Amino acid sequence: MLKYVDYNIVFQEIPGETTLAVNISNCPNYCIDCHSPELREDIGVILDETELNKLYKRYGGLITCICFMGGDSSPDRVEELAIYVEKLSGGGIKTAWYSGNNMFPESCTPKSFNYIKLGEYIRERGGLNSPSTNQRMYQIEQGEFKDITHLFLKKLR
Ligand code: SF4
Repeated sequence: MLKYVDYNIVFQEIPGETTLAVNISNCPNYCIDCHSPELREDIGVILDETELNKLYKRYGGLITCICFMGGDSSPDRVEELAIYVEKLSGGGIKTAWYSGNNMFPESCTPKSFNYIKLGEYIRERGGLNSPSTNQRMYQIEQGEFKDITHLFLKKLR
């Protein structure tokens, strides 16, 4: 079961998209420099199809993408919900997943998402907008991973 703590409409997390970023709790990862320790707790509201339906009705006209921020405790459930969003919106809303894992789970299928971010958080290497980051952002095209991390660095050039 997934739970979420809150959500925001954001513009930087997925390049070129207006994104409803849903912050999922119960993170099983142990990034030493965790920037959101509260998300390691099992707190919040159950994130299921009913809840996504409500968010879609409220914000569907304002956004182009829904991003699952976390959810590594139940990757198969994240994938199910991404597929649900795709069906609910008739493909009109893209889906993204910010995972703290370094590898995409073997049990999931990349083409269930339009964007996937992978990589633990290491403070000295920084996030996606840092030139030394270990994290990668991929656009999924026909089931293949296309690395678009460089788009986060454009502002620095
Ligand atoms: S993925 Fe890492 S940084 Fe993000 S909430 Fe989990 S432990 Fe913290």
